[in-house]
Amino acid sequence: MGSIAENLESVQARVAAACARAGRAPDAVRLLAVSKTYGPDAVRAAAAAGQRLFGENRVQEAAAKIPECPGNLEWHLIGHLQSNKAALAARLFDWVHSADSAKLLEALDRHAAEAGRSLRALVQVNVSGERSKSGLAPAAVPEVLALAHRLRNVQIVGLMTIPPLAEDPETARPCFRKLRELRGEWAAATGLELPELSMGMTHDLDVAIEEGATFVRVGTGIFGARARPAEGAEEA
Ligand SMILES: *Cc1c(COP(=O)(O)O)cnc(C)c1O
Repeated sequence: MGSIAENLESVQARVAAACARAGRAPDAVRLLAVSKTYGPDAVRAAAAAGQRLFGENRVQEAAAKIPECPGNLEWHLIGHLQSNKAALAARLFDWVHSADSAKLLEALDRHAAEAGRSLRALVQVNVSGERSKSGLAPAAVPEVLALAHRLRNVQIVGLMTIPPLAEDPETARPCFRKLRELRGEWAAATGLELPELSMGMTHDLDVAIEEGATFVRVGTGIFGARARPAEGAEEA
């Protein structure tokens, strides 16, 4: 691993190469720097290298970190959120990638209104039906999307998924492809646009971009290996 600036540059090069392979415009994919477990110094170093979008998976950790970071950054929540932390999340974050219930979206909408803010949300889908991964089963998603027209301060703009962990990034391809296909079905059924697909992390972002990702969430590839394992880190 090089410096944060060097790592960012090589991740950006991977994103650009994957876009080129897929015949997509280089700016069709936004890079989210996942700064969980890393402190404000790491965020500042990435920001100094031009990174603007950051992802955190725990509300409490973000609440301590964000005030110590430059003010011109955009913060994305990517970890499971409990409704009792929705008020804090609605003040801290600009985007929530991990919306997984109607109740949570309603709570975010109410708290965003109270805070005079507007949020964008992605519905997290458990495409693979794998064990304990958070996210909604595909069959439960249309009902949650149907809520969109009742929300005022939360705009549902797409879908997010985390594929099962696997050594070979190609293993994740069917899962990414399925999310894109489901997006097509659900967009047609609900009339929502759902332009955003948040999928792909350090080891499988190339495949995710080939399958239509508009956000890739990259931690290790930018900041280095974490002391805390990526998996349990899904909790908010
Ligand atoms: C930690 C995390 C990432 C980043 O994972 P890396 O393998 O470090 O790139 C992406 N998405 C979610 C939901 C995460 O919790």
